[in-house]
Amino acid sequence: MADCIFCKIANKEIPSTAVFEDEQVIAFKDLEPQAPVHVLVIPKKHIVSVGALQAEDKDVVSHILCDVIPKIAKEQGIAEKGFRVVANTGAEGGQTVNHLHFHVLGGRSMQWPPG
Ligand code: AMP
Ligand code: ZN
Repeated sequence: MADCIFCKIANKEIPSTAVFEDEQVIAFKDLEPQAPVHVLVIPKKHIVSVGALQAEDKDVVSHILCDVIPKIAKEQGIAEKGFRVVANTGAEGGQTVNHLHFHVLGGRSMQWPPG
């Protein structure tokens, strides 16, 4: 989508600090990290949110969850101690960028419940 900041990151129209990329996915460091490790994993295809997922998106979502996030967690050194995966969804879910993204947070103890 033309005015979507994460589409622009996927298309390299604006810079990011990428930690992983393949045909379907890019993962990059969050600009305002909330933990020592804070990476965002996005499909390159514009999908608005978890709430907008369609059957045709199963491949990319399972690739993100089964392959990409575990690889990033290992590479970032948080796989063993534990980490958090967050997909804020919609206004009350706290989503501010309307392009599906999974936060991968680690390197410190997380609290529950979230704010
Ligand atoms: P959410 O609030 O769940 O929609 O998450 C959006 C996230 O995107 C926030 O954690 C922002 O810090 C992050 N963010 C916004 N713009 C950029 C950018 N250009 N590069 C990296 N992270 C960004
Ligand atoms: Zn987008």
